[in-house]
Amino acid sequence: MTDLAIKTSDDEAVCARIADAENDIKQRMLDWSAINTGSWNREGLERLAPKLADAFSALDAEVKLQPSLPFEKVDDKGKAVDFQTAPILRVNSRPEAPVQIIMSGHYDTVFPPGTFTEITEMDDGRLNGPGLADMKGGLSVMLEALKAFEAGPLKDKLGYQIVVSPDEEIGNFASSGALKEAAQSGAMVGMTYEPCMETGAMSGGRKGSAVFDIVLHGRSAHAGRSKEDGRSALEAAAHMVVDIEALNNRREGVSFNVGSIDGGNAVNIVPDLAIVRFGARAPDADAAQWATWEVERLFKEATVRDGITGHLHGGFYRPPKPRNEAQQALFTAVADTGRALDLQLEFQDTGGVCEGNNIFAAGVPNVDTLGVMGGRIHSSEEYVVLSSLVERASLSALLLNRFADGRIDANKIKALME
Ligand SMILES: [Zn+2]
Repeated sequence: MTDLAIKTSDDEAVCARIADAENDIKQRMLDWSAINTGSWNREGLERLAPKLADAFSALDAEVKLQPSLPFEKVDDKGKAVDFQTAPILRVNSRPEAPVQIIMSGHYDTVFPPGTFTEITEMDDGRLNGPGLADMKGGLSVMLEALKAFEAGPLKDKLGYQIVVSPDEEIGNFASSGALKEAAQSGAMVGMTYEPCMETGAMSGGRKGSAVFDIVLHGRSAHAGRSKEDGRSALEAAAHMVVDIEALNNRREGVSFNVGSIDGGNAVNIVPDLAIVRFGARAPDADAAQWATWEVERLFKEATVRDGITGHLHGGFYRPPKPRNEAQQALFTAVADTGRALDLQLEFQDTGGVCEGNNIFAAGVPNVDTLGVMGGRIHSSEEYVVLSSLVERASLSALLLNRFADGRIDANKIKALME
């Protein structure tokens, strides 16, 4: 058995190339973060997409911007409308190579235009700015790792498909099809570039995540003159919300959270519309099925009330990603590879979700926190640890070398999924 913690001359060479490129990795991250790409900011996303395509054209690969599919969104009038967002970056290389991997990331952020724009130096080698860690730094790290790998002699042994999505932070509804298709065109393992934790720890098992929108219609009436003719959608929603929250602690690891209730207007009108938006998390497929059935049951209970109709949207858009044998084997290989860089990598289970869930659901084991080290993501205090740019790009490049020369047997890891 090969010791993954030992560096070969090919490994030394990729690490040297990455160390030389430190400034490039950083500069790309800064340039990309200067463009606002909040998930609903199609204009900003469309401005960044060609720049990404340009940068990824440095690879020995076919690069294209693929239009994303419109997806359904429930607006604040309770109507399902189609939302069209920016394109998906697709990069394909060497489909005939014996080892195939899928790599993924996203170029949207959670910040709407104008909300968080400054990039500021912090003390001890950190930078504060929108999307630096989540995940423009990660995209830059992915690109540099591939460049360093392709400059070496193992290139022809490994091919890849990259999917960089414009909508991860809102659930990948426009890009989940592309992720699935790329994962299922022969990929053995997946590498996704979410940031790892402040401590350097990476994500292990992940729960599945659901988003539901329930729209309830009643009948409006004057509250003073003809209250009895009205049917309050808000009242029906209120009962349903209490019942949804009561599902918490009913089943191990499953949680529900009602995020908002919209509807109603003046106090002298019986409200004829309520929109209830909520999320659910579940640790495995059975638990996710149970959660879905419970939601459907409560929706039915709400709509058998006199005069109340409605519709239910959503579901588990990210299936759970439990630690199975394949995942565990991959984590062990990554941790052993980390030792070649003097890293003690740990994998911690989390309730958070990402594209790694989608790739796992498509049958491909994957490690999904190969991006930069950072913290306070999704807040205006988001930061990236600058020393992690070279460190994490080197980790990825070493993994690519090991997949390519068989020191890590990607096929064998994939076979453990069955
Ligand atoms: Zn992210």
